[in-house]
Amino acid sequence: MSLNNRILHVDGDSFFASCEIALDPKLHGLAVWVGGGRRGDGIVIAANRAAKKFGVKTGMACFEAKRLCPKGVLCRPHYDEYRRLSQEMFRVLEEYSPTLVPISIDEGFLDFTTMDRHVWRDKSPENYVKEIRARILREVGLPVSAGLANSSRLAKLATDAAKPGFIEIKPGEEKEFLKDRSVRELSGIGKNRQRALSALGATTFGEAATLPSIMLKQKFGIWGQQLWLFSNGLWNEPLLLEVKDRTTISSNTTLPYDEPDYEAVLTFIFSEATRLVGQLRREQLQAREMGLTIRFTDFTETSGGHRFREAQFLNSTINAALEAIFRGLMGDQFKSVRQIRIAFWNLRRLDTQPTLWGRTDAERWGALDDAAHRLNTQFGRISVMTGAQLALREMEDSFKNPKAKCPFVPQREMVRKLWGTDADPLAHKGDWEKRLAKVSKQSQFNH
Ligand SMILES: [Mg+2]
Repeated sequence: MSLNNRILHVDGDSFFASCEIALDPKLHGLAVWVGGGRRGDGIVIAANRAAKKFGVKTGMACFEAKRLCPKGVLCRPHYDEYRRLSQEMFRVLEEYSPTLVPISIDEGFLDFTTMDRHVWRDKSPENYVKEIRARILREVGLPVSAGLANSSRLAKLATDAAKPGFIEIKPGEEKEFLKDRSVRELSGIGKNRQRALSALGATTFGEAATLPSIMLKQKFGIWGQQLWLFSNGLWNEPLLLEVKDRTTISSNTTLPYDEPDYEAVLTFIFSEATRLVGQLRREQLQAREMGLTIRFTDFTETSGGHRFREAQFLNSTINAALEAIFRGLMGDQFKSVRQIRIAFWNLRRLDTQPTLWGRTDAERWGALDDAAHRLNTQFGRISVMTGAQLALREMEDSFKNPKAKCPFVPQREMVRKLWGTDADPLAHKGDWEKRLAKVSKQSQFNH
């Protein structure tokens, strides 16, 4: 079978920085970078072309970027917005091919293998891709680059070479395109293989292509064989969309500040667990096992888990078990909490479909989750929330107040300043419960 695969790789240009510009047109034409870290001023996680001209690079400290490019703009990351823009981008892309395989927030492959038979009878691939790129720029506000070739690997290399723009590697031109390119460009090649190849005299694909395939196979196994085929432009690989069943769901959250108040941490946990369990229910799943890991300010960890007799889908049951794990773990701890990780696994199907035998709990929860999810999608950010989520939002306001939670002042000193005593900062944790009760009462009253 010699069906010539045609695979398009699409990749957002400096995606996070481009998102910031799409969100705020005033930034257009400026050097822009997005800062990572907990307060958005740690290291540069994305920089646009204008900023890169000044030498601003991903991974560089933000203050260094500012020194190189004093007129540049530092943006704090808005991940929810990036996710939304990414979705809009993929929504445009999926109109152009029956098979779309997203591989990251701003990257995906489209199968164009049979496209010549359907679409570009009167249109060249170049014009077709030009139209896709123009639409994404116009409708979503994001610039994207693309590469078209006979395998997803080669298409990705084509995109990298094209940035910003589009390159098509026509059938038969693969070897020529690769000839002078470094084998380093191949994703997942690793330092060791690179060194071993260079010892054999191959630093470019052109040089690798001239090595005996038998030798490459002996040295690197199946990977060596694939490399030989690839270097000779013979690697032909269909695009496969693998739909794997979910086996686990988890979240890893670094708190905005190291949190000494364990009750506040527990509220975070409830809120995150509620989100995860809601996601599971929407995928018609429930969990039998779960784990909770707490990482402290000094990066030490403690963790625990629970296995239910039967798979569970109710927040009340799951949160009660989480609370028990949490109290068990934190009983003799005193350090502030930096990060929490929650995971659910051992997943089972949850039938939320209406039954003939009257309404089941699962069915009612399914309807509720669907409705809440639809509302939240419709109105952007979270409009419908559980008591824990609402309490969390109220709490976030206090996080924003640097006086109350200054990260640079040891918590004990802070307590002394605020309350004038040297008491255990956790002694006032009962306040939190009162506040939580008040908040949920208010929300009952309001709705
Ligand atoms: Mg990208």
